[in-house]
Amino acid sequence: MTAYMDYKDLANETIDEARAGRIADGVHRVLDRIARAEMLNGREEGSVTLLAATKTRDVGEIMAAIDAGVHMIGENRPQEIATKIDGLRYACGQRGIVLGANDVETVESLDLTDDPEALDHLPLHLIGQLQSNKINKVLPDADVIESVDSLELAHKIGRRAAARGADVGVLLEVNESGEATKSGCDPDEAFELALRIAEIDGLELQGLMTVGAHVDDEAVVRRGFAHLRDLRDRVRDSHAEGTEHCAELSMGMSGDMEHAIAEGATIVRVGTAIFGERAFK
Ligand SMILES: *Cc1c(COP(=O)(O)O)cnc(C)c1O
Repeated sequence: MTAYMDYKDLANETIDEARAGRIADGVHRVLDRIARAEMLNGREEGSVTLLAATKTRDVGEIMAAIDAGVHMIGENRPQEIATKIDGLRYACGQRGIVLGANDVETVESLDLTDDPEALDHLPLHLIGQLQSNKINKVLPDADVIESVDSLELAHKIGRRAAARGADVGVLLEVNESGEATKSGCDPDEAFELALRIAEIDGLELQGLMTVGAHVDDEAVVRRGFAHLRDLRDRVRDSHAEGTEHCAELSMGMSGDMEHAIAEGATIVRVGTAIFGERAFK
């Protein structure tokens, strides 16, 4: 377990109004940045989804972001999902929202509606590295695992998902910057890998993901994002088995979302610009 979880109660549900107000302001600022970047780059309005990166944030902070207009959340660690999921599902249920995969039971227990399928669905993504011994921990909750970067991991996830009888969405994570500290597969191997992953039972390959280069040079950052877009296009245009759902480009964070949107991002993953600096790494 990560050390900060000993210092912060991530299941906490109540935050003060001032903190909730700052989070709402953060969400609105980010949604404005997204809308502006869509407009400036000739992207269709609403074609980019804001995923709130919620690592180190508690249930109360996350619900403040959802109340302010966030429609997708991403967690990095299976243990954090386990700590927060019950509180988040209950609070979402009270708002008529089904959180993550397989949440119909929670919603039924709240007795909100005769037709749980008609409720809004707020997807939960795993965006951090996944060790194979944690796959079963995340599968009941995550709609999409964005951090698949090897055939071995993909096969393991596919086997477990197929055994549960429910396909899980996956994105192939590509290390476009080549920075040694980053996870993700080699860009030169990504195309073949995507085609192999697309064929695996239990998985639905929904697209590609990357973390932008950690440099100030806009051209370098954009080159990585552009390469990911090109890769997505080639995978989809291959018409190989299972590639028909390969549409998403999850790229861009607090510091580089405009560049990512300019290069075709469909999901931007934003933490700091919504919630402020993280007190814990
Ligand atoms: C933390 C994180 C983000 C968000 O980063 P910010 O700079 O706080 O916006 C996005 N993607 C991944 C994989 C992350 O771990």
